[in-house]
Amino acid sequence: MKYYSTNGKAPMADLQKAVVKGLAEDRGLYMPEEIRKLPKVFFDDMAGMSFQDIAYNVASNFFGDDVDEDALQDIVFDTLSFDCPIVKVTDNIYSLELFHGPTLAFKDVGARFMARLLGYFLRSGGSAAHKTVNVLVATSGDTGSAVANGFLGVEGIHVYVLYPKGKVSPIQECQFTTLGKNITAIEVDGVFDDCQALVKNAFMDTELNQHMMLTSANSINVARFLPQAFYYFNAVARLSALKRQTSDIVMCVPSGNFGNICAALFGHEMGLPISRFIAANNANDVFYEYLQTGQYNPRPSVQTLANAMDVGDPSNFARIYDLYGKSHERISSLISGATYSDQQIAETMRQCYKETGYILDPHGACGYQALKDGLKPGEVGIFCETAHPAKFKEKVDAILGTDIEIPDRLQAFMKGQKQSVPMSKDFQDFKAYLMKQ
Ligand SMILES: *Cc1c(COP(=O)(O)O)cnc(C)c1O
Repeated sequence: MKYYSTNGKAPMADLQKAVVKGLAEDRGLYMPEEIRKLPKVFFDDMAGMSFQDIAYNVASNFFGDDVDEDALQDIVFDTLSFDCPIVKVTDNIYSLELFHGPTLAFKDVGARFMARLLGYFLRSGGSAAHKTVNVLVATSGDTGSAVANGFLGVEGIHVYVLYPKGKVSPIQECQFTTLGKNITAIEVDGVFDDCQALVKNAFMDTELNQHMMLTSANSINVARFLPQAFYYFNAVARLSALKRQTSDIVMCVPSGNFGNICAALFGHEMGLPISRFIAANNANDVFYEYLQTGQYNPRPSVQTLANAMDVGDPSNFARIYDLYGKSHERISSLISGATYSDQQIAETMRQCYKETGYILDPHGACGYQALKDGLKPGEVGIFCETAHPAKFKEKVDAILGTDIEIPDRLQAFMKGQKQSVPMSKDFQDFKAYLMKQ
């Protein structure tokens, strides 16, 4: 499979190049040149298949030409060492729980898959062979933990997580500062934008790139976003196994950079029977506005309760736009939008807890409410519960008046010893540090 750039001005890339580079030379996003439909027999059999087997079928549709069959199976099975179940919340609304992985958010799936695929390319030769690949990632909290844990212990790869000192929650910080091994946490005396600037400067520095092989594990990477399609297939399979009618499924995805919903749309192109999609936003609603007006006007993000969705210029918009031939009509007939204020998010969390006993996190709450507001008679809705509520324990407890339990695997991080390298926000200091590695 070859990958082209959404900007149309870069050469086609093979999978290895697309994964190692992340972004095309023209700053566009890589897209697979074709999306093959999966055969009818696969859909007929899906309800009786395991999550891992379903995922392997989906993976091989994209990566089967470029990755050896057994290796791909190992990568998929190893990535999915945890389940992504659906849980009934109301009569016609199900939660697709994506928080059963090591860092309790859906980003575990993509990060684990990408780490293992990169590891495979390192072992199997080609341009990436025999060198340590250094992954640089700037984080405001969640991405760093998913990437660090996804890459933990993968041979041939070293990860540097840059995070702003004092600006991430203690629960988030411990998920990437206590790991050791091939993970180095760099505590930058600055804000998130300073961390991002250090990473960007590092990628552009010729001397540094001669010294070491650098790559990013950004969420726009094809190896991070495509595997997210796995759990949408599994959700539909599990729903049909429950003997629910599955002709009118609405998939609702709380969205920030739109990578997660984009993977669902790719699934739909592969034949997954979902009748329509809802992109649920917090107050950062440029996509919602695009659906209404046809105008895409990116703007700076505002801070909200559902902060992993605080994105003012969603990077995967380019993919969705390209996938549907830049047609506003096609996009808006398949996807509808919703947008919620912090006050509405909190109210949804309280209502849902009172009526059903289900504890939503602030991101999932946007998805749940969008289904409540948008489902038509006869439709069944599934929303992504993108993170475990305990990741936002203080906020959730304050809103619900609860004292929710912190899962063991999260507590285990909190008991670890913090290790980090202090760094100024001056690029020369960061470069000098990397040149010594
Ligand atoms: C990253 C994230 C999102 C947004 O997902 P996108 O793929 O960027 O749209 C939503 N919820 C949580 C908890 C996240 O970590």
